[in-house]
Amino acid sequence: MQKLVIWIFLLLTGSQIFGQSKETFNIRAYREKQSHQWLEEFTSFLSIPNIAGDTVNMQKNAAFIQQMMLKRGISNIQLLYPKTPGIPPAVYGEALVAGATKTIIFYAHYDGQPVDSTKWWKGLHPFKPTLLNGSLEQHATIINWPGSAEPINPEWRIYSRSASDDKAGVMSILSAYESMIACGYLRNFNIKFFFEGEEEAGSDHLHEILEKYAPQLQSNLWVICDGPVHQSGKKMVAFGVRGDAHAELTVYGSKRPLHSGHYGNWAPNPAWMLSRLLASMKNDHGKVLIKGFYDDVIPLSEKEKKAVMEIPSPDAQMKNELGFIEQENTDKTLAESLLMPSLNINGMQSANVGKLSSNIIPTTATASLDLRLVPGNDFKKQQEKLVKHVKEQGYFVTDKEPTDAERKRYPKIAKLVLSDGYNAQRTSMDLPIAQNLIAAVKSTTSEQVVLMPSMGGSLPLFVFEKYLNAKTISVPIANHDNNQHAENENIRLQNLWNGMETFAAIMMMK
Ligand SMILES: [Zn+2]
Repeated sequence: MQKLVIWIFLLLTGSQIFGQSKETFNIRAYREKQSHQWLEEFTSFLSIPNIAGDTVNMQKNAAFIQQMMLKRGISNIQLLYPKTPGIPPAVYGEALVAGATKTIIFYAHYDGQPVDSTKWWKGLHPFKPTLLNGSLEQHATIINWPGSAEPINPEWRIYSRSASDDKAGVMSILSAYESMIACGYLRNFNIKFFFEGEEEAGSDHLHEILEKYAPQLQSNLWVICDGPVHQSGKKMVAFGVRGDAHAELTVYGSKRPLHSGHYGNWAPNPAWMLSRLLASMKNDHGKVLIKGFYDDVIPLSEKEKKAVMEIPSPDAQMKNELGFIEQENTDKTLAESLLMPSLNINGMQSANVGKLSSNIIPTTATASLDLRLVPGNDFKKQQEKLVKHVKEQGYFVTDKEPTDAERKRYPKIAKLVLSDGYNAQRTSMDLPIAQNLIAAVKSTTSEQVVLMPSMGGSLPLFVFEKYLNAKTISVPIANHDNNQHAENENIRLQNLWNGMETFAAIMMMK
């Protein structure tokens, strides 16, 4: 009855209701008809293991997606292989519109993170998709899959590897396309689909595919579907990602471990040296003290600043959930902190602790450092600032184990091994295509759409820019508590449904 009233209202006014477009209501109605069938298809898809290196199953996944595309009338379906042999292909398809001059490519990935099935909650298995009546954290229980006449509760969750990261992306993009065609909607854009099979293994060969198939992968925009929506549960559009680089820092004491009674107070202790060195890099408020660390950052535009101001603050909720009361950078919110370059200690090691500890002075102390980068930062330059800082603290810096000659010459020695890395990427929110995409996503919800100039995490989106000169915008759909990359990964059904509506709206955007 309620639905009927909405239908009549839309028919009479032909406009939006509760901020949602009439197209969204039609897409939703189609989804409600199809959802049992889609759940069946999705669980079959999730049942195929998708771990890097499992070539046979990765081929099965790719073949399954080809079938999904075929069923939906998508044309020119192909497997795109990189130059390097033995790498899972990207699955490609297209839906061209006569006379269209603009193209959007939708991206998701079908490979998943490695699994340790012993860590999954009892009754769950990474490749036996299971339905629960909520989240495990809320003490949900396993339920039967609904019969074709039984209603589906959108709060139910499917537990399975890649349920959210990122087969949900593949599923929602393809079903969005199906819904839009079934509803008879017209589009301005050619649509292409690109589903990668190597993302969780680092996308090492993605650039080979982009280079090899560059002419057919030209577009006005890549829409990237990966990762979770905002912690508030609101829909999110992100215009960039941070870059990432690493450094492994080791400082040295004596050549062999010494008795802490016989030599303590005399022999240099690398654990103390490393502590002092690390402490010199950041103050008590989380500000990085390395010279010029924040210098190259490109300031946000007025639109971007406004968007950041409007991001709902999950800070109190997250602190409560995570069990601490004071953040680093006390003058900044979580969203603001993620727009700055950061220096993190990922881990530290020097001899043993607890039951394994002994009365020694360690010979070395090591810290793994992670540098997150924002637009303007060059990852090599940022690493060089770190090297310079270590030198300024009186260290001789090398990238190898110190030689005897070096040990005799320098009182303080640090080995700094710099990893490869990549720079941040950001598409301007001010571009007309970005504004049209924002309007399209807004047309699907009565709630606020969270606009993030950059996400905190890192994805190698720069490769799209570098090899195709392409623009990317990320539209994640998963629930924020989806346990991606860990055991008990899950997707909340409403997030899957929301994703379909969002992508359908983007496919039809101006
Ligand atoms: Zn992912």
